[in-house]
Amino acid sequence: MKFLILCENSNGAWPYLHYRGLGAFELKKRVKDHGYDATIIEWFTHWKNDDLIKASQVYFKDTDQPVIAVSTPFDNKDLYKIETFLRWCKKTYPNVKIIHGGSRTFQETLGGLVDVFFLGRSMEIFDQWISNKDLSKFTVNKSPLVLMNRNFDQKIDNPVIPDLDEDNCFVSRDILGFEIGVGCKFNCTFCNYELRGAKITKFLDAKELHNYFEVAYKKYGVTNYYTSDDTINESDEKLEIIIEAMEGLDYKPKITSFARLDLFSKRKHQLDMIEKIQFAALFFGIESFNPEVSKSMRKRTGLIDNFETLKEIKKRCPDTYTIGSLIAGLSGDSKENMIQSIERVINEKLLWGLQVYPLLVTETSNVSDDYFLSDLDQNPEQYGYKTSIPITSLHGDRETQVVHWESDWSNSVDAQKLVDEIYETYEGQIIFMNHYEYAGFKSLGLIKPNKKIDYESLKHQSFNVSSQLKHQYILNKKRYFGI
Ligand code: SF4
Repeated sequence: MKFLILCENSNGAWPYLHYRGLGAFELKKRVKDHGYDATIIEWFTHWKNDDLIKASQVYFKDTDQPVIAVSTPFDNKDLYKIETFLRWCKKTYPNVKIIHGGSRTFQETLGGLVDVFFLGRSMEIFDQWISNKDLSKFTVNKSPLVLMNRNFDQKIDNPVIPDLDEDNCFVSRDILGFEIGVGCKFNCTFCNYELRGAKITKFLDAKELHNYFEVAYKKYGVTNYYTSDDTINESDEKLEIIIEAMEGLDYKPKITSFARLDLFSKRKHQLDMIEKIQFAALFFGIESFNPEVSKSMRKRTGLIDNFETLKEIKKRCPDTYTIGSLIAGLSGDSKENMIQSIERVINEKLLWGLQVYPLLVTETSNVSDDYFLSDLDQNPEQYGYKTSIPITSLHGDRETQVVHWESDWSNSVDAQKLVDEIYETYEGQIIFMNHYEYAGFKSLGLIKPNKKIDYESLKHQSFNVSSQLKHQYILNKKRYFGI
């Protein structure tokens, strides 16, 4: 059996970024653990159909059991972009299996072409599938076959860290990922992260991470990284692992992460830890600066002052790009509170960047995992929201609808208007760029010290430079295949 793993993570909201994938590497590792061969084709929508065909011809020439595994973590409509190639494979390789993973829903219309859809975090199911074991407990749809893990076991899954083999064609400007711990132990009301409410968090070994940092740098000159953890300061251990892994390196890895501001406020000693790490960029999902609102969303721990914490982070980590996100329309909040908080952040320069979103309440008829809807989506009334008719589909998914809601001071229409007003009013006073964008632009050398950041121009420049980088990757990978 040989696996050609096709991965695409650069479409959707940020086509100008060039982060290397993560889930595909875990799949590659698992395939190898089972004694088979696998290699990854990154950014597959950027490849010409003919080149994909040639790569498969070379790679599958010595197997009668080829597998095409497609991974689309952000936009599963990317599958349609290689439909011609997949149909060609079906015709050419009689035994080919086409499998799909990385997303939380599946495309019924591609049944017949795709043999199996793996939904959500599915390494346990994959191990069963590749070993020809009974899949009945994971089967949620028979035609096409859709497999999902309803009783996810955090002890079976490992935190993901890619291999650094030559066939990955890494170059110094790549941004490589890793995961410190599987799952998040919290369960914020609005969150639809799949592994929230985790009882056990299994951590990456600090020595393994140290080795990863060391080899990636020595072999390829890589210095930029991101963590896939949804909350890097969920526990002290996660930060300790990074600190330990960085010790004794010849360079300082530049790491981008999601974090919780309220946890830094509560556990002040974590500020000493991030001072040591000096993250490249941190994203705080603040949601509201109103403590009562945060509490009602299960995003506040104790009596805390997030403004003071931001001041402290700015002092200790002056070069870390910090961005906070707020949600407009939350019950118990108010327009005045939002505006006051934003103006304080701007006047005191407490954050580099800001993003504001209207609250979304969704419902779905999709076959999806049990965490796909947040607690708030499932019981809006309980959290102070009256809902009524669907108003639009979510990210073009017709089965998942965003519904109209009303809180004690806002509703889905007014919240969107407020968001538009905030962006219009504060443009030029704070940047609306998120942490991944900043770290991506920086890794490409587009952000210069002491130079004003022009977000729109950076997006254009980054699109050009990252397209060249993806093109170079394709040339290198074609050289690997010998085509
Ligand atoms: S919002 Fe963050 S901290 Fe809260 S449950 Fe989701 S991932 Fe965990």
